[in-house]
Formats: sequence, structure tokens, C-alpha cells
Amino acid sequence: MPQKIVKLTVKDVRFPTSLGQHGSDAMHTDPDYSVAYVVIETDGGMKGYGLTFTVGRGTEVVVCAVKALSGFVVGKTLEEIVGDFRGFYRLLTSDGQMRWIGPEKGVIQLATAAVLNAVWDLWARAEGKPLWKLLVDMSPEQLVSCIDFRYITDALTEQEALGEACCTLLHNSLGSSLSNGTVIKKPIQLMSDYGARFPNHQSRVFLICGFVSLTLSRSLTHSLTHSLSHSHSDLLRKAQTGKTEREEQMLKEGYPAYTTSCAWLGYSDQQLTQLCTDALASGWSRFKVKVGAELEDDERRCRLIRQMIGPDKTLMMDANQRWDVGEAISWVTSLAPFRPLWIEEPTSPDDILGHATISKALAPLGIGVASGEQCHNRVMFKQFLQASALQFVQIDSCRLGSVNENLSVLLMAHKFQVPVCPHAGGVGLCELVQHLILFDYISVSADLNNRMCEYVDHLHEHFTSPVVIRNAHYLPPKDPGYSCEMLESSVETHQFPGGVVWANLLAKAPE
Ligand SMILES: [Mg+2]
Repeated sequence: MPQKIVKLTVKDVRFPTSLGQHGSDAMHTDPDYSVAYVVIETDGGMKGYGLTFTVGRGTEVVVCAVKALSGFVVGKTLEEIVGDFRGFYRLLTSDGQMRWIGPEKGVIQLATAAVLNAVWDLWARAEGKPLWKLLVDMSPEQLVSCIDFRYITDALTEQEALGEACCTLLHNSLGSSLSNGTVIKKPIQLMSDYGARFPNHQSRVFLICGFVSLTLSRSLTHSLTHSLSHSHSDLLRKAQTGKTEREEQMLKEGYPAYTTSCAWLGYSDQQLTQLCTDALASGWSRFKVKVGAELEDDERRCRLIRQMIGPDKTLMMDANQRWDVGEAISWVTSLAPFRPLWIEEPTSPDDILGHATISKALAPLGIGVASGEQCHNRVMFKQFLQASALQFVQIDSCRLGSVNENLSVLLMAHKFQVPVCPHAGGVGLCELVQHLILFDYISVSADLNNRMCEYVDHLHEHFTSPVVIRNAHYLPPKDPGYSCEMLESSVETHQFPGGVVWANLLAKAPE
């Protein structure tokens, strides 16, 4: 029975987080975590819930943009949409008139994310599965049929994306040395190492290593040809085996997380110390600290947190776009003694070449560059990856065009072998993005090395299926859908400006 979407509503829902300085950083000093909250309803009585994240003022503009898109959704059946999801994505993002206010960026892209998140939620509910499981159970062909490859074919084509899926399958069946090329790289590396150590015997060493390399290359080519000549279903069967094990591993252990809750910029040292103590007691081993306002403050706070967590735990730093390129390099160099794994958003989120310059300058210090929470589409991510401007890709469930666009970024990151560490926090971002990173591990990357998902301990109590964290890991959601649904009472009381929370606050506010 087709589910026809007959209604779309959108609400401006805000939480007064600025009162406690939660979420404060070098650029967003007083955020009120908010969402444009979308509900779609079908004639069969089903509902899909979606949202996009904002930080207060301006949410009303996103709400307006969602209303402008609603005409593309209402009247369509779920089956029509998911039967040609690439076409539907293009319809939303590339309307002949509407695209002028994007395309695929800014407010209209945030609105697209909210609408499409609701559609994916509806689809997962209709299938009776949590979204990550819906994705894990889809075939490679189904997955790529949701992606708009326009503008990224110079980095990843549809055939390659299918091949990427095939690579993962081969990776599982033939061992990790295949996909990262170590089978070929090893003899070449040996050749150069031994050649340097025994210069008098260089020609003999070269001859032997060359022979080994050639033999291995031939055997590798044979294995690849043999595997690819097998039927597609054979490959899928092999992949299914690896996927099942990884799915079971996730259900048992969960996906590794890091916390940003301890060290918002507006928190006092005392508050930071207390929260860090609590987090260590709860088993957290990866911490992120906000930096970028005052160098002396940063040095003091980073010293404090590094002393508390000890030398072996992981520390990341986040500047939220505060610096120019040169300033970023010198500032982070000053903070290098505290050994951050990465510096996040060191400069303008649009400055791809600037990020590349910073990456190059910080590489000798062992510090990577991370970005993505304000990277608004797949084209930007493509260029960041092509320019080696990022060492950590931070996808966002509400900044990119929902699951569709996130799929393309996950596949590109896999092709470029850059780890994905999703952005989360805010309102609902943890709830949503956990689905995407679970899918990434089970079906795409099959790798946990240097990978973790951000976690922030705020506002989960407003969701009907809040995240479950155990031992600093995200446990896979079990309820059908995309975990976007909020409690009706929360939506009602926090609606801006009429909900009781805001009516009270605004009544107290000075003129
Ligand atoms: Mg950040």
C-alpha cells in the first residue's frame, strides 16, 4: 500500500543553552541550541520526523526555507521518492528557480537536510528498521542510486563507487594488504631500505626485490581478475560475511566516541576540572578542548586538561574558524607541546587551500587538520580531499543534504583513505549521525583506526529514542527510524517565541 505524503509541518524549537554557556566557543559565544523541526505525514497515518540544527537567531529563516520546499514533497508517495532517490534529491536541490538561493549551500541546504532527514526517517520506519540497519541491508547498487554524482565524477564515479564497494568486499576476502597497496609497496620499500644499507650490493638487492615485487603483482592481478570474474552475487555473499561480523561487533561494543562536554570556552577552570574528573571516571579516553580566543588562556586550559588526562589519552583542539592561515600555524605550533591529534576548523570553512597550507605546516608536528561541520556540500569535501587539506573528515547529518549527500562523502573519504570522525552535539546531531558512522564502519570503511564520533551530553532527554552511550561508545539504536523524533511536550514548551520556556524568558528580558 503506497504511502502518500499529505502534510508537512515545520517548527522553530530553541533551547536557552546560552544561559549556562553550554556550546560556547571562540566564534559562537552565546549559542541557543535550536532546530527547524519537520514532521511529514502520510495518508496511511505514518509520520516521519526530521530536523536541522541551528544556534538560535535565524532559525526562523530556515523554517521559511523548509516551507518553500514543502511543495516538492507533499503529494509524492514514499515509494516514488525512494524509487528514484537521486532524482528526488536533484528535484529538491536543483529546481530551476529555487537553486538561485543556493545551490546546495546556506539556508536552503539546511532546509533540504531537514526535509530529507524526515523522508529517510519515514522510510526506515516503513521498513521497521533503524536507519543504520536500513543502509547496511541495502545493496551497493541501491546505495549509489541515492547519490547525486554531479560535480564529483572527477574524484568518484558511480562505477568507481560500486567498485569501492567491491574493493571493500575484496578487502574482506583477501586481506587488508590488498586495498591499501602494501603488497606492492612493501617490496619497493624493502628495496630502497636495503639498497641504502648495503650500497655495495645494491644491484643484487634490487634484482631480488624486483623479482619478488613482480611475482606478487602478478599474483595480485590474478587474484583481482579471479575475484572480479566471479558473479556479483558471489562478491556480495563474501561481503555479507564480513558485514555480519562487524554488525555483531557494533551491537556488542558500540562505536567509539569522544567527548566535547568538558571544555567549552565559557566554562571556568573549576568547571572544566570537575567535568573532566567525572568523564575520566565514566571511562572517557578522548577529549576535545575549545581554543582560539586568547593564547595564554588556551595554554593554561590545555595544560590543565593534559595533566588531568595524562600522556596516553587523546586530546583534540577546536578553534571554530577563528584564525587566518598564518595565525593558525603559529598559534597551533605554540599549543603543540600538549600533543593534540588534530586542530579543528582552524580558519574559514570555505578556505580549502588555506587548510592545505595549514595541514602541510603542521604535519611535521604530528598534528592533523579536521573540518566539515560547516562544509556544506560534496563538492567542497571533494576539493578538501583532492588538495590533501584535511586529515580527518567531519561529516554532519544536518549540514550536508541528508543521508544522500553523506553517502557520497563517506565513499570519497574511503577512496582517499581519510578517516571520518563525525561532528555531533547540538540538538539531535548525536542521535542522527550515529546511524551514518555505524553504516560507514559496517559497510564502507571496515576500519576503526583513528576513528571516533563526537559526543556532547546535552538535550538528549528531549528525544523519544535518545542515544545510548556505554563505556564511551555509541550503542546502535534499535528503534525504527532516524532517531529524529522529539517529545511533543519538549517541542511545545520550547517553540520560539510562543512556548512557555521562551514566553517566560522574554518577559524577564530587559527592553
Ligand atoms: Mg567543532
